[in-house]
Amino acid sequence: MKKVGIIGGGASGLIAALYAKKNGADVTVFERKDRVGKKILVTGNGRCNFTNAYMKPECYYTDDVSFVERVLENYSSKDLCMFFTSLGLLIKDKNGYFYPACEQASAVLDVIRSAINETDINIRTDSLVTEVKAADTGFTVKTEGGETFSFDSVIMSCGGKAGLPAKENANGYDILKTLGHTVTKLYPALTQIKCEGANFKALSGVRDECELYLFKDEELIMKQAGEVLFTDYGLSGIVSFQVSHCVAQCLDEKKNVTIVLNLLPGFEREDLKNFVMSKLLLHENQTVESFFTGFLNKKLNIEIIKMCGLKPSALVRDCDKEAIIDAVLYMQEFTVKAVGVNGFDKSQVTGGGVLISELTDNLESVLHKGLYITGELVDVDGICGGYNLQWAFSTGAIAGKNASL
Ligand SMILES: Cc1cc2nc3c(=O)[nH]c(=O)nc-3n(C[C@H](O)[C@H](O)[C@H](O)COP(=O)(O)OP(=O)(O)OC[C@H]3O[C@@H](n4cnc5c(N)ncnc54)[C@H](O)[C@@H]3O)c2cc1C
Repeated sequence: MKKVGIIGGGASGLIAALYAKKNGADVTVFERKDRVGKKILVTGNGRCNFTNAYMKPECYYTDDVSFVERVLENYSSKDLCMFFTSLGLLIKDKNGYFYPACEQASAVLDVIRSAINETDINIRTDSLVTEVKAADTGFTVKTEGGETFSFDSVIMSCGGKAGLPAKENANGYDILKTLGHTVTKLYPALTQIKCEGANFKALSGVRDECELYLFKDEELIMKQAGEVLFTDYGLSGIVSFQVSHCVAQCLDEKKNVTIVLNLLPGFEREDLKNFVMSKLLLHENQTVESFFTGFLNKKLNIEIIKMCGLKPSALVRDCDKEAIIDAVLYMQEFTVKAVGVNGFDKSQVTGGGVLISELTDNLESVLHKGLYITGELVDVDGICGGYNLQWAFSTGAIAGKNASL
């Protein structure tokens, strides 16, 4: 019987344990916390969006799209849904975003834990692994308490730096470095963006369905559509999350990063201009602030009026009409400068990780036979929408199946 040690009882480690056990292995999971799977509970705002019907490699940041494609073919979104169904979880499809039907993340963890409890998988909580060493045959694993264990195969499922309090060290990367693996630069991803160029304090709390255009120096590098949420220091909301990895990378390269928001998507510029011109004919006795009613959230209207050099209290008839038209058109090109992203503690996933070129398609290390690396530790991170949990579950399932052979 193969002895498999799994370092980390999170999404990828737990599924790895179940698949390794299914193949008849003797499985031990080491978890530093007092319970396994704690992060699963906070996913999807407590609802756990664990996968997506639209599962394409372009939904992932990676150096090797074809690797991601092969992994996701090998253990797909459909496979994951079948796995959860087999554990007795009723699944809800919300426009292609998959959740447990009850929309409680705890249900996902509960069915996994029940399945584990039905086996003799050895779960060691409060067990921080500090060292993994390749031995003549297999590996030795040392915990903080000084205990040493031997395994034929080890699956590193320690997760990344995302969501961890600053004082908590993600030591999985260090362990892998001591085993000779290369860890790329790590970035906080799926997080808020710090910006300059608008009075964010005044805009804090405003939400808008928009299009976001991301420029690196002058070059357009990304476009996203969805909700933006203004915070007192910059931008949050799904569109900001989706581009945050890229923003962090560009800033790291010392590039100028500009974000242009089309806050009135779906309106042709010419139509908007004609609407403003006819409104100008009918409403020139209004104040500028009243004239702008209905275009955007009031706070955004006022900020844009000011940014465009107009006074909210001035009468339209006393203003330069071109300036009013320009201010409305500026709503489609609201421009700010990105100056940073929030830290790992606020981010949902870690960008970067162990080089893909150091892994086989089975997530096995090319440096050490029998060593597997899963989930967030690998240099692959997904956009919002269930892509990161799918990655964790796919890599964990594949590693678990293979480590036990
Ligand atoms: C707030 C938040 C919301 C999210 N929402 C979603 C979502 O809705 N959909 C989605 O797809 N993704 C979401 N994610 C991302 C997703 O949770 C992660 O990508 C995924 O959990 C990564 O799985 P993992 O197994 O690699 O690591 P983790 O799930 O982080 O598990 C790693 C485990 O290893 C343990 N560990 C670490 N080091 C050691 C050690 N040395 N010894 C022993 N144990 C150790 C940790 O305590 C942890 O339990 C969210 C993340 C956050 C922070």
